[in-house]
Amino acid sequence: MNLTIIGSGYVGLVTGTCFAEMGNHVTCVDLDEKKIADLNQGRIPIYEPGLEPVILSNLADGRLRFTTSLAEAMTDSQVYFIAVGTPPGEDGSADLRHVLAVAREIGRCLDKYAVIVDKSTVPVGTAEKVAAVIQDELDKRSVDIAFDVVSNPEFLKEGAAVDDFMKPDRIVIGCNSDQARDIMCNLYADFCRNHNRMVMMGVREAEMTKYAANAMLATKISFMNEIAGLCDALQVDVEKVRLGIGSDSRIGFPFIYPGCGYGGSCFPKDVNALISMAEENDLEPMILNAVHQRNADQKNVLFRKIVARFGSDLSGMTFGLWGLAFKPGTDDMREAPSVVLLRQLIDSGAKVKAYDPEAMDVAMQELPKDWFEKGALVLCQHQYDALDDVDALALVTEWKPFRHPDFKVMSSLMSQAVVFDGRNQYDPKEMKSEGFEYWGIGRCGDY
Ligand code: NAD
Repeated sequence: MNLTIIGSGYVGLVTGTCFAEMGNHVTCVDLDEKKIADLNQGRIPIYEPGLEPVILSNLADGRLRFTTSLAEAMTDSQVYFIAVGTPPGEDGSADLRHVLAVAREIGRCLDKYAVIVDKSTVPVGTAEKVAAVIQDELDKRSVDIAFDVVSNPEFLKEGAAVDDFMKPDRIVIGCNSDQARDIMCNLYADFCRNHNRMVMMGVREAEMTKYAANAMLATKISFMNEIAGLCDALQVDVEKVRLGIGSDSRIGFPFIYPGCGYGGSCFPKDVNALISMAEENDLEPMILNAVHQRNADQKNVLFRKIVARFGSDLSGMTFGLWGLAFKPGTDDMREAPSVVLLRQLIDSGAKVKAYDPEAMDVAMQELPKDWFEKGALVLCQHQYDALDDVDALALVTEWKPFRHPDFKVMSSLMSQAVVFDGRNQYDPKEMKSEGFEYWGIGRCGDY
């Protein structure tokens, strides 16, 4: 099939690349000229494991191309995927500006039947808005062209995006037309040859499914963080509790790891968008409000522990920080807990030496310039460089190289052997025997 993907970020780029890998001819569009120029030269603008070789081979084989012009990309496509950002508006609702701008451009150029797919995460009712905008443009041109708008939310995880797309748990297709349903099923058949993973539903149900999925995962995390706070207060080791409840098949192990809060471009924004949807419909989103509040507070948990240990004036102190990305496997720092902690440490007079395996360039671009200029933040080339002469280490992102560090080297480098473990990576007993003072999340058990 000929496909056009509009928006070449984490979702659009992975979607386009994986469809090309299956033999489709894909044009990826983005407004960002530098991004498109880089992609055309084989430079990949994001870090995503396994993505680069697939892009390069499909570029070389001519199945994948990149352009800034949607009009140019609209020559022969049967399906148009809208994969642009839906950032939070000022009131927390999803800002549909980019989605509707793309819809308008599609309406201006559409010349034969096509399926328009909402791949972006969009509130219930958006497909109707997209259809109305396209129809408006067709009316202005006085042309009568049929089209369908389908909701096909994306469930990939940054850090495992290519694998998730190639081997999805499920493919949700919200569709109110037989013709569009056949095209979508045909397109996705390659991704579920072994057994059918397509879940067909109405458009509005598909739109809600994406938000409900993310809100459920965020709820599990926030619930466990609340339990961890109680464990801290009651001298209970939350790690034992996690093992105890996760082994219940009704609960399961995924997403019950306590930590210093979830970040990223999806969970915070999608929980807030769902809260807005509830409020617009005069419903009080009690659980969702609590999930959001717990997470916002959880991003302060490491700083609270640091202040409890060292006091609120941290001037003259230096902290090592491991992990800047919002989670391992990505260079994405949107809503990352590391940024909250950095601000708190620097505002309290501390200096920070930070290291992340992939997010250093993003950190350099996105963090406040004055932090670097006044020497409050130094980005280090190696994880151990970030420990040189520091008073404590804060681990914020659970990258694999941080899991089994050389504790002897660590304590020889640090001026005080104190570790604040925001992801419960270490065994408190082992840390104690290695001579460390250890502060985890909900780990005040009796060791
Ligand atoms: P992103 O910010 O990485 O990429 C969006 C891209 O769209 C940018 O490159 C931007 O330049 C481009 N763009 C904006 N307006 C455009 C226009 N008019 N024409 C062409 N390009 C335009 O965003 P993302 O992380 O890929 O997310 C995209 C959508 O997918 C969001 O709705 C998000 O909630 C959803 N989603 C994201 C993930 C994830 O893990 N990142 C997972 C599932 C769903």
